[in-house]
Amino acid sequence: MALIVQKYGGSSVADAERIFRVARRITDTYQAGNDVCVVLSAQGDTTDDLIAKAEEINPNASRREMDMLLSCGEQISIALMAMAIEKLGFPVVSLCGWQVGMTTDSNHSAARIKRVDCDRVREELDKKRIVLIAGFQGVNRHGDVTTLGRGGSDTTAVAMAVALQADLCQIYTDVDGVYTCDPRLVPEARKLSEITYSEMLELASLGAQVLHNRSVELAKSYNVPLEVLSSFTGNPGTIVKEVVNKVEKTYITGVAQDKKIARVALTGIADEPGMAYRVFGLLAKNKINVDMILQSYGRGESKDIVFTLAEKDVPACTKLLEENKQSLGYENLDVSTDVSKVSIVGAGMLGNAGVAAKMFEALYQAHINIRMISTSEIKISVLIDKDESERAVKAIHSRFFQ
Ligand code: ASP
Ligand code: MG
Repeated sequence: MALIVQKYGGSSVADAERIFRVARRITDTYQAGNDVCVVLSAQGDTTDDLIAKAEEINPNASRREMDMLLSCGEQISIALMAMAIEKLGFPVVSLCGWQVGMTTDSNHSAARIKRVDCDRVREELDKKRIVLIAGFQGVNRHGDVTTLGRGGSDTTAVAMAVALQADLCQIYTDVDGVYTCDPRLVPEARKLSEITYSEMLELASLGAQVLHNRSVELAKSYNVPLEVLSSFTGNPGTIVKEVVNKVEKTYITGVAQDKKIARVALTGIADEPGMAYRVFGLLAKNKINVDMILQSYGRGESKDIVFTLAEKDVPACTKLLEENKQSLGYENLDVSTDVSKVSIVGAGMLGNAGVAAKMFEALYQAHINIRMISTSEIKISVLIDKDESERAVKAIHSRFFQ
């Protein structure tokens, strides 16, 4: 017997038929003798629909009221699921965030969990009930409802697994695991049987939308084994854990692309100390995150600084740099959104020479020009033209995996 936390995403509970399919999966786990605690997301597009409704009324609604509204989606899911499980004849109880002591800070719409007081859940599990918990929501110290940010139900599930010291946390979704690449783009992409937390974190932040970033961070800090699997097929999924046994001799686990980025170039900046600090200090003060950074080697008087950032931050960044043209003293500002970042991730590249060269060779053979390069211990990213992104991903994937 084990204590298992399961989480089902919105598409897995989108309609009555799917709710019953999931209800059976839950009751099968329960019948096998396990204690089962289940976290649910809002059905299908419910959260997007609620956002659209809010926009009709007031596009500038406060984040507190947005949380009040958006948290309803998950509450509907747990109530409906409880009804389905009742119908199948099993003991069940549904609980909201505040009922399970999911205490967060007051940062509405992006709240962080501070504490989970799971006495109520334990009581219910001791009564041999299946416990259903509304994902994505919490409560702050004033008793107000908060939400954890889009995709936050994964984080609720991991937080519950940590608090309950669960034996396993299963994240059920509509894909059957983590792939070496987006299978819609590269049909030969392979499902990974295992991946490390660090690799998963890199892939998640590079846009692989299988798991909420913070859920992986949390799982990593508490060493909670995660399994990502499909609620439709029930096939074995991908296990996310600290160390994995690499059976195959590939040094990388995945290839990802991010097209929602932009490149900003400041040319003709004075070649003197403090310039990078002035540019990036200004951006940081205005909460604009930058990603890749390149500074040219100074040629006598001047140098260039090029960096990338999220496409959504372009208007704010451009405005800021234009307003400060005088004080920053650059000659020219050039912004392009026709760029894409393609990355390879793999803990195995650490200490293996030639991984970068292999990636660059694949791009060379596909006649794709690299505009910027950045590396970390387990990641190599290149910036290329947007219209070549898919071709680059395919070329790199086949170079490493075929
Ligand atoms: N329902 C929320 C969302 O759509 C949270 C979640 O699904 O994890 O973002
Ligand atoms: Mg999700």
